[in-house]
Amino acid sequence: ISSKKLLWLRVEKVKQNHWRSVFTEQHEHKSFLLEMEKVIRGGQAIVIGGGLLGISTSYFLSVHLGKNVVLITRDPPLSVTSSVSTEAYRTFWGADNLMSAFVERSLCLMEDLAGGKDGDDADGSLDLGDQGYLYVARDPEVVDSLRSAASVPSSWPSPPLLFLNSLQLHERYPWLSSSLEGGLLASRCGFLNANELGSYLLQRSRLTGRFSTLLGEALHRDSTGSVLLCSQDNGATHFGVALDSDTCIVNCAGPWMNQVHSRLQDGDKPLPLVNKLHCKTSVIDNTSCSMPNSAPMVIGMDSLPVNTLYGEDEMEVVAEFLPPQIAKLESFPPGVHCRPAGASRLLIWEFVFRDQHRLDHSQDPSWPIDPGIFSPMYGELCLSAMARYVPGFKALRNQRVRVDGGWYACTPDGRPLIGHTAGSNGNYIVCGGVAGYGVMSSLSCGALAAKIATGTDCGSDDCDFLEGFSPMREMGPPKYTGISNK
Ligand SMILES: Cc1cc2nc3c(=O)[nH]c(=O)nc-3n(C[C@H](O)[C@H](O)[C@H](O)COP(=O)(O)OP(=O)(O)OC[C@H]3O[C@@H](n4cnc5c(N)ncnc54)[C@H](O)[C@@H]3O)c2cc1C
Repeated sequence: ISSKKLLWLRVEKVKQNHWRSVFTEQHEHKSFLLEMEKVIRGGQAIVIGGGLLGISTSYFLSVHLGKNVVLITRDPPLSVTSSVSTEAYRTFWGADNLMSAFVERSLCLMEDLAGGKDGDDADGSLDLGDQGYLYVARDPEVVDSLRSAASVPSSWPSPPLLFLNSLQLHERYPWLSSSLEGGLLASRCGFLNANELGSYLLQRSRLTGRFSTLLGEALHRDSTGSVLLCSQDNGATHFGVALDSDTCIVNCAGPWMNQVHSRLQDGDKPLPLVNKLHCKTSVIDNTSCSMPNSAPMVIGMDSLPVNTLYGEDEMEVVAEFLPPQIAKLESFPPGVHCRPAGASRLLIWEFVFRDQHRLDHSQDPSWPIDPGIFSPMYGELCLSAMARYVPGFKALRNQRVRVDGGWYACTPDGRPLIGHTAGSNGNYIVCGGVAGYGVMSSLSCGALAAKIATGTDCGSDDCDFLEGFSPMREMGPPKYTGISNK
């Protein structure tokens, strides 16, 4: 057995938390380091994870706080969860004003970037649009609940909600079904370009000369705590990153935060995160026959009896491809979403996959996601449901659809985890748990994480965020569970 293979086997054991038994002997530790390709200088801050949160944190550390930053990422930057998002944002969070304020802050930071207030000009390429979110219904009871949601005076920073009766709805959006009875329009909501945002932050960080990226998987600190061991090419090669006593480490590993946490914080409690599979479907609409490119996010709020979507014969075929608990439903729940995205239309209907793939802290989420995991009926279901609200979608039902998705890293209260953990040794923090809002909140997450990691005074504006997003907080149920929660 070659020494390389031996090394590989040992690192595999390290990955499986056998670190202590494998490397208790100091001489073994030394030989491990000798066999590694190189040990790299770590800088003042190490950020683990090249998604939008890791990139944003690196940006604030290097550009705003002047720190030397090394970003270690297992996959190329912006190629994992941050590459599959629907790129939508909303400051509407029902009763959760803290989340409204947090996303609002992120948007203001994005507007500063796009408008050149940050010292450079992102050239408006973040494509920040204010298209709105439009909740629509035909069921009179649901329409009443939309009307009363609009009549609750909104407290800052929640955006104003506008109720539109059937006439107003069709005047503004003539492509909606004429049988809809009302809608609720939330402003300060819309779409943005996540890839442009991330690429711009990377570029700005690189220009400081204080930022570098290493492609590799962070494994463990060595037994002296002075080197962070990393592997490349699935363990074929290894390198170490030297840690000074004051180097701060920010864990931004997205759905893998718990894996990184258990490796770096031996003995600390697992982070309160569950990973849930979430997917979207896209279909090409070159002629905009469904909805115009300027349309808002449309969200259907009615329960849909199955017989309004499919005849009996059709349902037999559909049922064959659906999980049994869904196939036996007589009515499908509300919530189908759609947004225009250039020549594509993106659709999501969460109930189809909700709770089917949930992983706790001990389970490693897969990546890339095997397309076989998505029901082949998913795209068809989304299109036929959306056609009930936007009839133009009927014409797209024969088109080929594409389905992709990723893992939502969810906390019990629906708020992020940013800060020190119970067992943090002072210079280790986490930043993540951002489920389906990591793109829209990426700048406020990164700004807060960078300040906490460096011990920079957060100021009174950040007090509520520090407390409300601390990984050590008491967590109740989510404050925002959807429009009806208002
Ligand atoms: C279908 C779908 C639609 C969505 N729509 C929206 C939306 O409209 N708006 C919105 O705001 N959000 C949306 N989201 C959520 C958003 O995409 C995520 O919250 C966000 O991308 C999370 O970013 P992240 O940086 O935390 O994680 P990721 O982008 O997953 O990045 C994690 C990084 O960690 C790295 N990593 C993991 N383990 C290690 C290790 N051991 N060492 C080094 N690196 C490691 C990975 O390689 C990866 O680069 C959506 C998500 C999905 C799945």
